[in-house]
Amino acid sequence: MKVVPLPSGGRASVAPPTTSTPAETTAKREPAPVRLPVTPATATPSEGVGARLEALARNMWWTWQPDVGQIFRELDPVRWRQLNYNPLALLSEFSPQRLEHRAAELVLHSRVNYAYRRLQEYLSAELTWGTTHAGVLKARPVAYFSAEFGIHESLPIYSGGLGVLAGDHVKSASDLGVPLVGIGLFYNQGYFHQRLDRDLWQQEEYADVEHDMLPIAPALDASGQPVVVEINTRHSRLLARLWRVEVGRTTLLLLDADVDGNRMEDRELTSRLYGGDHRVRIRQELLLGVGGMRALTAMGIVPGVLHLNEGHSAFAALELARQRMHDDGLSFYEAQRLVALQTAFTTHTPVAAGHDRFTGEQIEEHLGPLRDELGISYDELMALGRETPHDHSEPFCMTVLCLKMSRQANAVSAEHGRVSRKMWEGLFPGRATEEIPIGHITNGVHVGSWLAGQMHRLYDRHFGVDWATSSGEPEIWARIDEVDDGELWETHQVLKGRMLDFVRRRAVAQGERRGDPPQMIEQARQAMRTDALTIGFGRRFATYKRATLILADIEKLAEMVNDPRRPIQLIFAGKAHPHDEPGKRLLWEIARLTRDPRFAGRFLFVEDYDMSVGRHLVQGVDVWLNNPRRPMEASGTSGQKVVLNGGLNLSVLDGWWTEAYDGSNGFAIGQGNAHRQYEVQDARDAKALHETLIQEVIPLYYDRDRDGLPRAWIKRMKRAIRTLGWRFNADRMVMDYTKYAYVRAAGGLSCDMPR
Ligand SMILES: *Cc1c(COP(=O)(O)O)cnc(C)c1O
Repeated sequence: MKVVPLPSGGRASVAPPTTSTPAETTAKREPAPVRLPVTPATATPSEGVGARLEALARNMWWTWQPDVGQIFRELDPVRWRQLNYNPLALLSEFSPQRLEHRAAELVLHSRVNYAYRRLQEYLSAELTWGTTHAGVLKARPVAYFSAEFGIHESLPIYSGGLGVLAGDHVKSASDLGVPLVGIGLFYNQGYFHQRLDRDLWQQEEYADVEHDMLPIAPALDASGQPVVVEINTRHSRLLARLWRVEVGRTTLLLLDADVDGNRMEDRELTSRLYGGDHRVRIRQELLLGVGGMRALTAMGIVPGVLHLNEGHSAFAALELARQRMHDDGLSFYEAQRLVALQTAFTTHTPVAAGHDRFTGEQIEEHLGPLRDELGISYDELMALGRETPHDHSEPFCMTVLCLKMSRQANAVSAEHGRVSRKMWEGLFPGRATEEIPIGHITNGVHVGSWLAGQMHRLYDRHFGVDWATSSGEPEIWARIDEVDDGELWETHQVLKGRMLDFVRRRAVAQGERRGDPPQMIEQARQAMRTDALTIGFGRRFATYKRATLILADIEKLAEMVNDPRRPIQLIFAGKAHPHDEPGKRLLWEIARLTRDPRFAGRFLFVEDYDMSVGRHLVQGVDVWLNNPRRPMEASGTSGQKVVLNGGLNLSVLDGWWTEAYDGSNGFAIGQGNAHRQYEVQDARDAKALHETLIQEVIPLYYDRDRDGLPRAWIKRMKRAIRTLGWRFNADRMVMDYTKYAYVRAAGGLSCDMPR
C-alpha cells in the first residue's frame, strides 16, 4: 500500500494546509506559523480503499471516532482483538486484493470514504475554539513535555494515569484547535506486560515493539533530513533520533536513543518506561528536557510556552535559558526570569518521596557542559534544585527546579493544590501558605476516548448532534434529564453485558495460559452475572491505593457476595511497579481470592491493565471503587471516565472526588478525614466503606419499581452525568490551561492559575 504525501504544509497549527512555499522571510520576533514537515495523511481515490484505511490508521484521530474503529473491527473482529486493536497491524495482514474484496463484501467503501473525508475536514478546519481564544499561539505553539503519553493501547509509551492524562490533553488540544506540540520519549519496549504465574504472583514481560506496526514516522527537518539530536555530558555524547506521531491536529515528537553512534548502554536508554535506576532516569530526563528543546529547534519550532507535565522534563527550562542567552545576549538570571514567565509547570505528586532527586555528581556529569554555557557555578546550579540553596547535603530535586524556573505552577485538583502549597512553602520564605504560587487546574478526561459507542449515540440523540464539540459546556449535559430512565438503564445494561463478556474471555484465556485445572477454567467461563451489582477497581497497585481495603472484613464481604437476593460481584485489575514488593503482595492477596470457594465466579482479576482493559471496565461497571489513603491521590481520572458511561463512583473524599461529590451524584466513603497513624485511618475507612455499601449502595441498586427499574439509582446516574460530565472533562481542562496559563505566558505575562 502506498500513500501519497500532502503536497506541502503539514499541521501543527490550526492553519489549513496551504500549497504555498515555505515560510517567507519574517522578522526575528515574528516566526511564521509553525508548519511541521509532511506526513502521509492523504490518499487519492484511485488508490483504493487500502490507502484510505492506512491514512486513517496513521492519524490517531481514529482512536476517538467509534465509526472508524468499527470499520477496522469489521474487517476481522477476532484478529482486531488479538492484535490489541492495532489497525496498522491488522491492515498488514491483508493483501491489497483481499482488502478490496473484504471491503466490497462488507459494503465498506462509502463508510471509509466518509470517515476519510471527515478526517480531512477535521485537519483543515479553519474555525476552532483555538482560533478565537488562542490566536497568539499560532506562530509559537505550546511545547507540552511529558515522559509518557497514553494515546491508545497500541502505542505503548505510557504506564498509567500521568500518561493517559497527557494523551487526553493532547487530544483535547487537537479538538479545540489549541496549537500544541507534544514532546516525549519513544520506548522500544514500553511498560511491562503483566502475567500472573501459577502462584498468582506478578511476572513482568517485555517485548520489543515492531516499528512498522506503529503510526510513527521519522521527523524530518526543513531540508528533509531525519532529525538527530545531540547532547554532551561530561563523559560522553548522547544521540537521539526523532519520531513523530499525528494525533488529530496535534503532533507528538518522540526522542529515541536507539541509534548508531550511541554506546551500547545508551542505545537501551529509552527501551523501558520507568525501568531503570537513577542513572538511567537522569539520562532519560536529560534527553526529554534538553533533547526535546533541541528537537524543537531542529524542526524550526519556536515555542511560545513550555508546559512541563510533572518534573521529569525540568531540564528543558535550562536549555531554553541557554538558547535565550545565546540569541539575546542575556545573563543567566535575566534569561531565567524570562523563561519563568513562559513556563507552566504541573505537579502531580503529593508525596515528598515521589519527586525525582539526583546527587550532585549525577547532576554535574549530565548537566556540566550545559552549566558551562549558562555561565553558572556548580553551587549555583545545585541551588536551583534545592529547597535550602546552600545546604550541601540536599540532593537536586526536579520539582524544585521546575518551581524555580516557572512563575506559577499548578496542582491537579483543589485538594492537591492545598497539599502542594503546604508541601513547598519552605521554598518561599516569608510568604503565607495561601500565597505560595501554586494554583490548581483539576484533571479531566477526553470524552471521545472514554465514552462507549452506545452511550455516544444516546447522547447524540438527546444532546444535539454537535454536542461533542461543546462538551465543556454545562447546558449540554443538563439535557440528560430529558432521557427516559428505561433507555438509559437499557444502554447501561448492554454495556455491562459487553464488559462482562470481556472479563470472562480474559479470565478464561489467563487460566488456560497458566494451566489452571479445567474446572477452574469452566468456572471462569460461567463467572459473573448481569443482574448482580458489579464493582470495578482498576488502578496501580501502589500501597497507598489500598486495593485490599475491602477485604478488611473478609467474612462480611463473603456475605455480601453470596447474598441470594442482593449479591455483589467484583472485578480487579492493575499492575504493581516491578520493584514494588509490597504492591505485588497486595495484588497477590486480591488474585488468590479468585480461587477462594467463597468468591468463586464472583471475583475476577483481569491481567495486564492498560487503556484497553481500562476502557472496557469503565464503560460497564455499576460502581467504581476508589479508596486511596487520603490525601495521597492528587486527582485520579478513572472515576471520571466511569461517570460519562453512567457508572457511579464510590470513593474516599480525595483528589477530584473532594470537589466533585455533592451528596447525590455518587457515594462517599467516610468524611474526608485523615489520621497520623495509617492503621487507624485504614481501619476507619474500611469500616466506612463497608457501611456505605450496606446502607446506601446495595439498597439503592436493588430497589426496583414495577418495571424492574432502580429509579433512585438512575436518578443518581443522571445527576452524576449532569453535574460532572462537563467539568471533569479534558476540553474544559485544556480551555482552563489556555486561559490561565498559555495565552498569558505567550504574551509575556505570568500565568494566573486559579485557586
Ligand atoms: C485512566 C487511567 C489511569 C488513571 O486512573 P486513576 O484514577 O488515576 O487510577 C491509569 N491507567 C489507565 C490504563 C487508565 O486508563
